[in-house]
Amino acid sequence: MWCTIWQGLPRYTPAAETCSTFSEEVTPHPTTICCISTAAQGETAFELNSEAFRSLKSRVRKAIPYQHATWEWYIKACFIMLGNFYLEYLIYTQGPSLIKHGLLGFFMALVGLAIQHDANHGGVSPKGWVNQFWGYTQDWIGGSALLWRHHHVLMHHAETNVDGDDPDITGDLIRFTELTNWQGRHKYQAIYTWLLLPLLPLNWHFKEFFDLLNMSHMGRKISPMAKKDAQIALGFRGVFFVRFYIAPLYLYPSLHTVACQLLCLAIGGMYLGVNFIISHNYEGVKTVLQHSDRSKHVKKDWAYEQVETSSTVGGRALGFLHGGLNYQIEHHLFPRISHVHYHKLAPVVREWCKENKLRYAYYPTLYSNVVSCYKYLDQLGNASPQIG
Ligand SMILES: [Zn+2]
Repeated sequence: MWCTIWQGLPRYTPAAETCSTFSEEVTPHPTTICCISTAAQGETAFELNSEAFRSLKSRVRKAIPYQHATWEWYIKACFIMLGNFYLEYLIYTQGPSLIKHGLLGFFMALVGLAIQHDANHGGVSPKGWVNQFWGYTQDWIGGSALLWRHHHVLMHHAETNVDGDDPDITGDLIRFTELTNWQGRHKYQAIYTWLLLPLLPLNWHFKEFFDLLNMSHMGRKISPMAKKDAQIALGFRGVFFVRFYIAPLYLYPSLHTVACQLLCLAIGGMYLGVNFIISHNYEGVKTVLQHSDRSKHVKKDWAYEQVETSSTVGGRALGFLHGGLNYQIEHHLFPRISHVHYHKLAPVVREWCKENKLRYAYYPTLYSNVVSCYKYLDQLGNASPQIG
């Protein structure tokens, strides 16, 4: 299932960098990715594996000799999964309730942040099958490990905040960069963006179903070599639809059941969505050159770009609940290191940023990061129309 698809592809691409271990060389793990989009193969606007980044990698290797999950990770992962199973069991046997479904939404979000994210980056274990096993937890909560690797690893991580290439800032419903044409509704985006986040799971559950059928996601084709993975994903999705939507409605047919299900989705979507949006959208964040203009620009250091397009918030305690994704700068530089190590990684990265005169965007609290994100969206929403 995990194919050595990297063979024959250009070695130095941003996608290769995101799939590399933290050795000084860019050596993508052959068992990491089996879905390749055009994002993994094209010309890159970045300088990869620069001297400065190799120096950081060398320091990180000393600070964290073992990059994968520790007992702390496995205990937490088992607790989260058992929480999910138990809540579903209670819903089937006792009937839906706002509390049970609310908690289920929270526990599903924890799967997304603290389990599947490490696994689908290849950070849980050096053994591919271990990452694959835990990676399927994304399918358990109604997502898809295959599409997540396509969307998140190959597109978002490789091309962070690159207009037209990063799927997390693509689209015109929300103006995430000044490169998106301004429209009247953007005046209100600082408000409505937050109201859209609870709807995210509905998009994942239903739109992705058709993406898997069509082997295409966010305008990029998925490799035919991942056909079998797509079929497995569709099987998981069918089981999820029965588990989450159909069986509770069959056992307890009422509007109350529907309301509980919607609450679950809203809490999960909000928790995940806030995490995603504040990490790359804050005052002073960098948005990278337009895709179509790449050839006109000098190549930028990919590692520098990762730092300047991400923010870190809080510390180890928040990281426990956020799967380390509050350490977004560290995560984007070293996505294949398990999140349990990020608190050790942060001071090394911070020092390196200082030496290289890079802004290390740090927010002491979630609230301050959210406020900065709000102001950023407000600025872009009220900016005069331009570029295009
Ligand atoms: Zn990631």
